[in-house]
Amino acid sequence: MPHTLLLAEPRGFCAGVVRAIDVLDDVLNREVPPIYAFHEIVHNSHVVEGFKARGAVFVDSIEEVPEGSRIIFSAHGVAPEIIRQANQRKLRVIDATCPLVTKVHLEARKAAKDGFDVLLVGHEGHDEVLGTKGEAPERTTVVDAPSDVSELRDTGREKFVVTQTTLSVDDTASTIDAIRDRFPDAEVRNDICYATTNRQAAVREIAQQADLVIVVGSPNSSNSVRLREVAASMGTVAYRVDGFGEINPNWYEGVEIVGLTAGASVPDSLLDPIITDLRKRGVTKIKPVIVAEETIEFRPPDQSS
Ligand code: SF4
Repeated sequence: MPHTLLLAEPRGFCAGVVRAIDVLDDVLNREVPPIYAFHEIVHNSHVVEGFKARGAVFVDSIEEVPEGSRIIFSAHGVAPEIIRQANQRKLRVIDATCPLVTKVHLEARKAAKDGFDVLLVGHEGHDEVLGTKGEAPERTTVVDAPSDVSELRDTGREKFVVTQTTLSVDDTASTIDAIRDRFPDAEVRNDICYATTNRQAAVREIAQQADLVIVVGSPNSSNSVRLREVAASMGTVAYRVDGFGEINPNWYEGVEIVGLTAGASVPDSLLDPIITDLRKRGVTKIKPVIVAEETIEFRPPDQSS
């Protein structure tokens, strides 16, 4: 049974998630519910359920929100069309889009205005991708994998590449290489954020030393899903769980060293029962594996509306 636990650092909440959660928390403390949020405020079922219990209502369309209501835009960002619809309904908007996502929107918008085709490397249908694509839908094509590149229509226009912020660092490099092979003059911005990069570097480090890696994160959390993939790509058995309840104790059979991490939308408290349980199973050594120190904080969004 396991005797050592490696804790990846950094893990869990990033600055963009903290900012979005703090905003919704503040609003629920000072205003009368329901408080609407467009899409899940962050992709974590525990965080979302906690807010629902306090009167937050998560919607996927602006039509669901009564005129004049308070609405928070999630950390993943929204398309300009959503902002237009919200204004039309006179909604009181607080935009909690992560500033690093906003940066990608601005790059895509400017590139389209300057006459480029925008190639958005990311996962079709993800909230962030829907928002970024919405900056210039007629000029933007989502590229999910290197195999998509050969199917891109050549319009004769120059290409400008942006990426989703929460992708696999390695897979994205392969996709960008494939784009450069086909369009050598493409301008490329790799927008994978610091939090995604650091968490993947940390999980890679623990996966090198552990017999088993557990990643805590919801199934719709892109960066959590990527963390499990990165650990598995090192040849280590890796599972993603939404919380302690999803852990199968059989996973620990024959395992001496367990690695533990969490996606950027996961509160550290979700790791506590897992750590307590591992102690009961005989873990005596708990070692942080630190690959980076994060000091980034974002200023709160404008709340004057
Ligand atoms: Fe912002 Fe990165 Fe966190 Fe997404 S994962 S909210 S882009 S810091």
